Amino acid sequence: MTMQAGFTGLRLPERVLMAGSDLLPARNWLDDEDPCTGRSFTAIPVADASDVDAFVQAATRALHDPAWRDLTPLARERLLHRFADAIEADLVTLAALEALDTGKPVTLAEAVDIPAAIGWLRTYAGWPTKIAGHAASLSATPGRFHAYTRREPVGVVAAITPWNFPIVLSMWKIAPALAAGCTIVLKPAAETALSALRLAEIAREAGLPPGVFSVVTGDGATGAALATHPGIAKVAFTGSTRTGQAILAASVPDIKRVTLELGGKSPTIITADADLDRAIPQAAMGCFFNSGQVCYAGTRLYVHRSVYERVLDGIAAVAASQKIGPSGDRSSQLGPLISRRQHEKVTGFVERARAAGIHAVGPEIPVPDEGHYFAPTLLRDVPPDAEVAREEVFGPVLAASAFDDLDEAIALANDSEYGLAAHIFTRDLATAHHAGATLQAGTVFVNCVLLADPSLPFGGMKKSGLGRENGAAVLDAYLELKSVVVAL
Ligand code: NAD
Ligand code: MN
Repeated sequence: MTMQAGFTGLRLPERVLMAGSDLLPARNWLDDEDPCTGRSFTAIPVADASDVDAFVQAATRALHDPAWRDLTPLARERLLHRFADAIEADLVTLAALEALDTGKPVTLAEAVDIPAAIGWLRTYAGWPTKIAGHAASLSATPGRFHAYTRREPVGVVAAITPWNFPIVLSMWKIAPALAAGCTIVLKPAAETALSALRLAEIAREAGLPPGVFSVVTGDGATGAALATHPGIAKVAFTGSTRTGQAILAASVPDIKRVTLELGGKSPTIITADADLDRAIPQAAMGCFFNSGQVCYAGTRLYVHRSVYERVLDGIAAVAASQKIGPSGDRSSQLGPLISRRQHEKVTGFVERARAAGIHAVGPEIPVPDEGHYFAPTLLRDVPPDAEVAREEVFGPVLAASAFDDLDEAIALANDSEYGLAAHIFTRDLATAHHAGATLQAGTVFVNCVLLADPSLPFGGMKKSGLGRENGAAVLDAYLELKSVVVAL
């Protein structure tokens, strides 16, 4: 067990226990590895089905505990703000844990990930006093009935999250679930459980009653035990399309409510009239940010033939300018991939593309020799049916090709089984709105990339998911709508 130089100030035990979890006498442990060194620095418990059952039962008791159930809406708001205050006070430690666990630069975790989690929690902390039913005016029997609706917490929620943005994607679920009055059990990815465990500790210190928000750690089997548990009313999942399909199938016996944020192969179109000084760096970082481990990364690039070579040269230059290095080095801009497995997967995609005659642009970019680093890679003239143009790579690999007219570009962009995001760079207003209407994606970005905001619904069309997170829309996923009819 060795710790990367940048993080020796963090005191981590050889085995991390689950927060407040007298509940989990773990029998099995998983090594937690630093992606920047490939060496493990601690271990996390692997919960089995009986452990998961204990967590779900505690969450069920908490759901009906007057200490949570009978809080006034304003008191619930105050409690969620207190939770947010406590996260804010712990920002530096949380960012270090997140960076150490994921391999992302600690400066990014401090500036982006933890502040985003706080922002989401504060946004939804304002909702409890605004969640309300409405009075219905009945036509069939005017005057003889008083009818109204109630919006009630759906029950115990299971949140299952991936390793690319652990605390952010967890908070996208925790915040609206708690605002709705649900209780929630979170199962983070095995690779990145530390920030979630810390969050559970902070929640208890901030005064959330026991069982309202808890974290159970483990692998896919732990996630499956949680997703199939009959005590779970709703599953909120972010991760691969394949696991999303398994979770949806597992929801059938109990008719569980499910939201899924899944994979993507999001297109970026650069038109002939685009502001290239803006389009080039954004299209580059829209793919390479977080070393390509972003569900809505722009990984297919369609460029008008008249500016194709200029754009490719520009993107290759942006890639070469990135400082690639370990998470604890405050000058790093890009970190490694999460694991050896992910490195092998991404390498395989690029090797098969090269074997199929697809060429990379620019000289090879050097990366540190230990750890799971993968250099940003720009592939040119990628045919639409190439594997690397159709499948989610989840690494910093951009597949580019040229187009001649806009309809062709939009048809290429839509020719995917995914539909998470789509981007267009243009100075023409009509082109922008035409793309906004015709691109098949949950979010269309015009002259920008990678924007996520608690006030803007986010989710996928086609195999990119089911339902929406964020905005006011997500609250529906955590509330049951009940009608009450009273005869007068
Ligand atoms: P995954 O979907 O298998 O894992 C995501 C979460 O689901 C983890 O917490 C995992 O433990 C849990 N899980 C796994 N199997 C489960 C099951 N049967 N029931 C319930 N929970 C289960 O993703 P992965 O294996 O870590 O990565 C595989 C690929 O998924 C990546 O290469 C990438 O392409 C894609 N991915 C996408 C996203 C995204 O944000 N869309 C995030 C991570 C990975
Ligand atoms: Mn880790």
